[in-house]
Amino acid sequence: MSKIVVNQDACIGCGACVGIDEEHFQFNDDGLSSVKTNENLDSENLKTTISACPTQAISIEENAE
Ligand code: SF4
Repeated sequence: MSKIVVNQDACIGCGACVGIDEEHFQFNDDGLSSVKTNENLDSENLKTTISACPTQAISIEENAE
């Protein structure tokens, strides 16, 4: 199963992903992005969001556990 990964060391908490794709992203208690769900990974909005992240912190890990 594939899953979304947010690199917590790269995320700067800019909020772009949360703003664009609230289906998949939310802020955690550290003010950084965390993944809400790994459903609907083919979403165009998700692709847009991955491209929009200014630090390239978001990736999709294939065949994750
Ligand atoms: S767009 Fe990137 S840097 Fe901004 S909050 Fe989301 S994961 Fe973090």
